[in-house]
Amino acid sequence: MNTREVTIGSVKMGAHHPIVPQTMLNTHTADIEATLSQAVRVADAGAQLIRITVPTLKDVECLSVIHERFRALGYRQPLVADVHFSSEIAIAAAKVVEKVRINPGNFHPRHEMARERFAQFLEVCKAHGTAIRIGLNHGSLGSYILDKYGATPQAMALAAMEWIEMCDQAQFYQVVVSLKASNTVIMIEAYRALSRLMQEEGLVFPLHLGVTEAGNGDTGRIKSCVAIATLLEEGIGNTVRVSLTEDPVNEVPVARYLAERYGMADQVGHDGHARPDRASLSEHEATILDAACTWGPKLLNREIDDFPCPDTSLKEEILQACRRKFFKPEYIACPGCGRTLYNLEKTFNTVKERTGHFRNVVIAVMGCIVNGPGEMADADYGYVGEGRGLVTLYKGKSPVLRHIPEDEAVDKLVELIQSDRAE
Ligand code: SF4
Repeated sequence: MNTREVTIGSVKMGAHHPIVPQTMLNTHTADIEATLSQAVRVADAGAQLIRITVPTLKDVECLSVIHERFRALGYRQPLVADVHFSSEIAIAAAKVVEKVRINPGNFHPRHEMARERFAQFLEVCKAHGTAIRIGLNHGSLGSYILDKYGATPQAMALAAMEWIEMCDQAQFYQVVVSLKASNTVIMIEAYRALSRLMQEEGLVFPLHLGVTEAGNGDTGRIKSCVAIATLLEEGIGNTVRVSLTEDPVNEVPVARYLAERYGMADQVGHDGHARPDRASLSEHEATILDAACTWGPKLLNREIDDFPCPDTSLKEEILQACRRKFFKPEYIACPGCGRTLYNLEKTFNTVKERTGHFRNVVIAVMGCIVNGPGEMADADYGYVGEGRGLVTLYKGKSPVLRHIPEDEAVDKLVELIQSDRAE
């Protein structure tokens, strides 16, 4: 898809430029040393764009120091502030880093006020040459959109178009858009719908692709790859993030694999795909990514129902990622960020061990109470960190057990699922 060119500091995105692999840090931004050190590690691994959470105005000051020190170390990768809810923080961050990711609908509960604040934010971005990402997620659509259209892929695309049109009215064109979901079918349909709408309106901006809360291990890698590969094969997508509940450094080789497989026209092999550099992948990782990208798009597009694969576990992972057959619970786990106040990766692995025997259930493990409940979309059960060693358990969208000490929370979650199954 021929998009506009967007300049994000030293990175050009869209138009004829290669796909940009990116990641997001999971440190507390106020911990400047830890954040800087992780930024260096992901940059050395090949991340070309680095996102950092900015929950408070105080964190903007830390971001400014991190930015300055990162540049002093000789790194040119643009930094992206990830801001939720507050236009005040978004405006402050826009004066400090090269790009700000926001969901404008969350700037204010009243839609007209959210529009007003978004317009103010755009003026600041324009004045400072800051790019933006309009990042809408399936699980966190504003009530204005839900009431009007429901939680459908088309609704996500229409919601994004409203903000895109506002950018056009403000003559602001440094815009990237994302419409992530943890359900691969919804994610693909949302991006396709948005691509169609952008082309109809003649406002074609670069797209950031990602599957939210994909989890970790083989499952997370495969879930991300089947969906992202499907869109990249259609020419949709200009930057990718493979969101994993792991050390962010692990995301980078997978994102690079996708960027190189679909973005390097000079290395095209006999099957029409580029030959990605495998140097940073383990043999196992290269095998699962190859299989996910080869068979995932065909399964998601319903061109095939089955495929030859001697590794049963890999085959089941791919079929489930494409939502064609379900063999184990579906897990939704956020990657964690500076808002996470517990050991998310360890807890997620424990939850998987203790609940792997349940069938036909969607279980979410989320890092924070601020965004977790909204982002866990259509999970049947949710484990959400409150902070201070406490957890809230959700059933659907409702909190059913609050303030549970962390060391009891997994047991309570298993009991909750079991008691519902016994009814
Ligand atoms: S849900 Fe997870 S990734 Fe999202 S803001 Fe909270 S801790 Fe960060």
